[in-house]
Amino acid sequence: MNTNYLDTPIEYIKGVGPQRADALKTELHIFSAEDLIKHYPYRYVDRTKFYKVREINADIPYVQVMGKIIDMRTVGEKRAKRFIATLKDETGEVELVWFQGIRWIEEKIKYHTTYIIFGRPNIYNGKINLPHPEIEEKNEENTTLASAWQALYNTTEKLKFKGLDSKGVGRIIKTAVSGLATHPIEETIPKTIIQELKLLDISSALKNIHIPANADLLKHAEYRLKFEELFYVQLKLLRSKLIRQKTYAGFQFSKVGDYFNNFYNNHLPFPLTNAQKRVIKEIRVDMGSGKQMNRLLQGDVGSGKTLVALMTMLIALDNGFQACLIAPTEILAQQHFQTLSQLLQPMNIKIGLLIGSSKTKARKELHELLRNGEMHLLIGTHALLEDEVQFQNLGLVVIDEQHRFGVAQRAQMWKKNTQPPHVLVMTATPIPRTLAMTLYGDLDVSVIDEMPPGRKPIQTIHRFDSQRLKVFAFIKEEIQKGRQIYVVYPLIEESEKLDLKNLMEGYESMVREFPLPNYRISIVHGKMKPADKDFEMQRFVKGETQIMIATTVIEVGVNVPNASVMIIENAERFGLSQLHQLRGRVGRGAEKSYCILMSSYKLSTEAKTRIETMVRTVDGFEIAEVDLRLRGPGDISGTQQSGLVDLRLADLAKDAHILQQARNIASELLSTDPNLEKPEHKCVVINLKRLRKDRPNWSRIS
Ligand code: ADP
Ligand code: MG
Repeated sequence: MNTNYLDTPIEYIKGVGPQRADALKTELHIFSAEDLIKHYPYRYVDRTKFYKVREINADIPYVQVMGKIIDMRTVGEKRAKRFIATLKDETGEVELVWFQGIRWIEEKIKYHTTYIIFGRPNIYNGKINLPHPEIEEKNEENTTLASAWQALYNTTEKLKFKGLDSKGVGRIIKTAVSGLATHPIEETIPKTIIQELKLLDISSALKNIHIPANADLLKHAEYRLKFEELFYVQLKLLRSKLIRQKTYAGFQFSKVGDYFNNFYNNHLPFPLTNAQKRVIKEIRVDMGSGKQMNRLLQGDVGSGKTLVALMTMLIALDNGFQACLIAPTEILAQQHFQTLSQLLQPMNIKIGLLIGSSKTKARKELHELLRNGEMHLLIGTHALLEDEVQFQNLGLVVIDEQHRFGVAQRAQMWKKNTQPPHVLVMTATPIPRTLAMTLYGDLDVSVIDEMPPGRKPIQTIHRFDSQRLKVFAFIKEEIQKGRQIYVVYPLIEESEKLDLKNLMEGYESMVREFPLPNYRISIVHGKMKPADKDFEMQRFVKGETQIMIATTVIEVGVNVPNASVMIIENAERFGLSQLHQLRGRVGRGAEKSYCILMSSYKLSTEAKTRIETMVRTVDGFEIAEVDLRLRGPGDISGTQQSGLVDLRLADLAKDAHILQQARNIASELLSTDPNLEKPEHKCVVINLKRLRKDRPNWSRIS
C-alpha cells in the first residue's frame, strides 16, 4: 500500500529530530506531517511594509523597521540585567531590549550596520521600545522577499526554548510543506465541486496558507480550507441523519384526535401565536411522516414553548402513545408538572412527576402505572433516564432546555421503546444559526420567532454599586404596587465559598433594608437541601414573600408572572446567555418590568460589551450572536462535548456564508449519491476515513 506523505511521523521532518518531536507532541499535539501542516497561522504580517521609527506606536501589533545601531549597553544586575541597543533611522531612535540570551545578542550585533528589525512595540516608563525583536542584517534576500506575508504561529514557552518560536515553527512547517511538491497528496474534494466553486487544489491551498504568494492567493487558500473543514462537518451530520432515517422507522402519528381537538377547542387558555401554530404544524407533519422526528425547537425565553410541548404530547396520546417531558432541574420539572396538570385538569389525562427526590414507594407505583399504560404523561428530571423507568408504549420525548443535556442522554431515551420515540428538543437560549447548523446539524429546526401579545418590553438598566440606595428606593416602590423582586448573585464554582459569603451578606443587608413585617424575603442557593429550596421557592411563587434572593439556580424556566424586577448583582461576572436567561424571569405578566444590572466601576472591555448589549436589546438571537463573537463557539455551553466545533480555521462567528454553502453542497452531494458510491466521490470516502482516524487519540498523549 502507498504510504501517505501526510502520515510521516513528525521526527522525520527535516529540522525536527527526536527532542523537538517530543516537545511538539506534548505541547501542541503535533504527531505527523499532517498535524504540522494543519497547524495554521493565527495571523499574517506584511513584511514588505517598513515603518519609520517616528511612526511606531503601541497600537500597532507588529512593526518592521530598518536602521543602524548607534549605541548598545548592558544595564542592571542579575535578574534585572538587560541589554539595550539603540536603533536609528532618519526619523528618530528606538530602543531594542533583551532580557535573555544577552551574551548571544551582544556578540551578534554590530555598530553601524543596517538591520531589519521586526517586533512588537511596547511601552515602558512612557517610552516605546521593542522587546526581543527579530533582528537580521539587511541583505539582498530579505529586502526582496519571496512572500510579503509572513505567517505567525502559536507556540509555547517550552517550544521556544527548543528554538521553536513562531519563526522556528514557521521554518519546519515550510519544510513540511515543501515536501508536498515531491510527494503529491490526494485531493480531498470532488473535482466537480472544485470546479464549481473555483477552489484552489489541496496542495496549493496548504502551501499558500503558510507561504502566501500574494494576498489574493492567501484569501483563496483560506477559503478552500475553511470550506473543506465545514463541508466535512456538514457531510458527517447529514449522513448520520440519513443513516438514522434509514435504520429506524418512526412511529407514524397519522392523526390528530380527541385529546388535541378537545384541548384546542375548549381548554386553550389563550389564542396561540402564529409562530406557535406554525411550529405545531411543522411538528405534526414530521411525526406523521413515518420517519422518526428529531427536532430542535428554538424560541426565546417566554415565547411559549411549554404550550407547544403540551400540544405535541397530546398528538402522541391521540395516537395511542405515552409521552414524557424532561427538564434539567427539579424546580423546573415541578413547575411544568403544575402548569400542565392545571391545563389538563378538565380532561381525562393521567399525568405523573418523577424527580430525584421522589420517594421509593411513589416511584414504584409510578413505574407500575407507566408499564401498564395507565399513566399517559410523565414529567421529570434526569431521574427519568434510569433503566428501571419503562413505558408501555413511549412515543414522544420532549427535552426542555437542551443545553443542559448531553447528546448521550438524548440517545438514552431512544431505548425506551422497541423503536425510538420522536424527540423534540427545546432550547431557551437562542443559538446563532451557524452554531445550530453545526451543533444540531442532524436535527430539523423549528423556530418560534414571535412573543405572545401584550407583553411590555423589559427595561434594562445598568447601575454601579454606589447607586444602591436609589435601587433600594425603587424596589420599595415596586413592592408597594404589589410586585415581586428577584435579586440574583453569581455562583462560580472556584470561589463557591466567597460567593456564598457574598450572597449571605447581601441577604443580611436586604433584611436590614426591608424588615418584617412589611417585607418578607426568600432565599435559595445551591447549598440548601432540595426540600428547603423548594419550600422557599414555593413561598415566592405563591406570593407569600416579595423578594427572592438567589443564586443562578433560578436561571432556568421558573415562571412567576407577578415578579417585575430582576436585580443582578456582580453582573460583570455573568455570561451573556446567563444574563439573558435571568432577565427572562421577569416580563412574564402584564406589568412593565425591569432588569437592573449592578456592577463595580472596574469593568473589562468584554464585560462592558456584555452589559451594553443587554441594555440595548432584548432579542435573544441578537444576544447569542454577540456572545458567539465575544467567546467563540468553544465556550458556548453545550458545545464542548460535541467536538463538532473543533474547527482549526473556520470561524462560526464570521464564516456563516461559507458554512451555508458547505451545507448546501454536502446536501446536494448526498441527494445524488446517498451511499457515496460514485467513483468521483471516492476521495470523499477516503477522507472521511482519515478524519475518523484523526480524532484525538488521548492514549498517544502522555
Ligand atoms: P418558554 O418558551 O420560555 O418556555 P413559557 O412556555 O414558559 O415560555 O411561556 C411563558 C409565558 O407565556 C407563560 O406564562 C405562558 O402561559 C404564556 N403564554 C404562552 N403562550 C401564550 C400565548 N399564545 N398567548 C399568551 N400567553 C402565552
Ligand atoms: Mg420554558
